Parts: sequence; C-alpha cells; structure tokens
Amino acid sequence: MFTSLAGKTVMVTGGSKGIGKGISVVFAKQGANVAVVARNAEAAERCAEQIRKDGGSANSFQGDVADLDSMKKVAQSVADMFGGIDILCSNAGIFPSAAIEEMTGEEWDTVMNTNAKGSLYAIQASLPYLKNAECGRIILTSSITGPLTGYKGWSHYGASKAAQLGFMKSAALELAKYNITINAVLPGNIVTEGLENLGENYLNEMAASIPLKRLGHVDDIAYAACFLASKEAGYITGQSIIVDGGQTIPESLDAMA
Ligand code: NAP
Repeated sequence: MFTSLAGKTVMVTGGSKGIGKGISVVFAKQGANVAVVARNAEAAERCAEQIRKDGGSANSFQGDVADLDSMKKVAQSVADMFGGIDILCSNAGIFPSAAIEEMTGEEWDTVMNTNAKGSLYAIQASLPYLKNAECGRIILTSSITGPLTGYKGWSHYGASKAAQLGFMKSAALELAKYNITINAVLPGNIVTEGLENLGENYLNEMAASIPLKRLGHVDDIAYAACFLASKEAGYITGQSIIVDGGQTIPESLDAMA
C-alpha cells in the first residue's frame, strides 16, 4: 500500500502492546524494519518475534521514555542494528484515573513524564538519526481526550495529550529545516489491553456513543500512522488526524438518533 515505507526503519515506543503493537505489525507488513520499544523486555520481544515469524523484520529494545539516557541508548542500538532511524512513532502512554480532589503531584508528574516529556525524550534521542534520513518522520499518538474532549478522572491525562499537540506545532517549525515532519494521530476508543482494563461498562458506554457503532481497531490507527510516515505525506507537518469513528462529531444525543 505505502511502497515508500519498504526498507525504512521505524522506532515504535510502546510497541509491545495495544496501538503500538498494531503500528509495529502494520509497518512491518509494509516492509519496514521495526524497533519495538517498551519497558517490559519480554513483551517487546514477543511482539518482535511474532513479526519475524510472519516474515517481517523486527527487533525488541528495552527502554523507558521517561528517561532520556535510556532512550538515547535505545536509539543508538536501533541505529547500530538497522543502519539508522527514518521514522519515530512516539506512542508510549499511560492513562491511570485520578479525581482532581484526590490527585497527588506525583500522579500528575508520572502521567506528564510518560506521555508528554516521553515524546520530547524519544524525539531528542532519535533526532541525530532522523536528521540523516532522506525524509524523517515523527508521528505522535495523542488522543481525542484533552485536545477535543474530557472524561472524569483524566484531567492529567487530557493535559498530557493536549501538551503533545502544543509541543508539535513548535517542533514542526524547528524540524522543518531537516526535512523532518511531525504529525499526530488522535485515536478515539481503540480496543487494546489498556482500554480493556477500564471495564465492560466503559467499553459499552463508548461503543454506544460512536456513530460508526464500533470501538476502533489498532489497525485503524496504524494505517493513519503509515500514511503520515509515507513519502507521499511529505508536505504535511504540524497536523492532526482524528481517528475516532466519528465519536467527536455529534453535538447532542439527538444528533446520534
Ligand atoms: P497499552 O495497551 O496500555 O500499551 C501501552 C504501551 O506503552 C505498552 O507497550 C507499554 O509497555 C508502553 N509504555 C508505557 N509506559 C512506557 C514508558 N515509560 N516507556 C516505554 N514504554 C512505555 O496502551 P494503548 O491503549 O495501546 O495506548 C497507546 C497510546 O495510545 C497511548 O499514548 C495512549 O494515550 C494512546 N491512546 C489510546 C487510546 C485507546 O483507546 N486505547 C485512545 C487514545 C489514545 P511497558 O509497560 O512494557 O513499558
């Protein structure tokens, strides 16, 4: 489908599970070399192994996006193994729930450090290699929650996801001189291990509020990321694509009838 991804190297943070795993598998199917990054080395290796078993090119790398030194080591190892980094999918993220009245500073910091600062660190670590790429690409996994919508218990999460987009606008300007584009995918409710942990009630409530009447699949996000990573998308930077089955469109319950 996206022929220009064949032979490119993509580093996927949070690539071991959920949306990141979907991104890893789909990029591998386009012929890309995939670096699967996560804190849990076994889970990352399971994903890489599955890709190799299916005929793709992948390796796992243990790393923590909230730790710059860790990300620098990962990026160096990825470049050593595959000869560079062409695409960064900054996808790792967490979404614990905490009410504002009870939220501790530590809870706030953990979410911001992983979701927002984690994107900065993944970019800083891979930038020396992206600068050498023919056309470097960065794709952020943000969310509809924060930039567009809210949900009780996710004020810190929403702030972190909106922060990614604010960061992206200035990053697009700073990175343009290297011919690197940076864009974001804003998923709605996508079935992943993380989402399933929120329980059946949450999943049912969300499915009912989606015009296309189904929760999203990880491939729905992965294909949007593939497009933004492709050579064909080279004139798009600093932009967001909402992939939510239309969930953010209705103005009222009547609009869904
Ligand atoms: P998930 O199933 O819980 O997977 C999260 C991934 O991130 C795992 O691979 C995890 O591996 C990794 N990760 C977490 N913290 C990390 C850290 N500090 N360093 C490196 N890797 C880390 O979550 P998901 O649902 O796929 O979500 C992925 C991204 O999509 C997140 O940014 C999330 O905000 C966004 N998103 C998801 C949805 C949805 O409906 N699922 C909707 C909107 C946005 P380890 O724990 O082993 O590190």
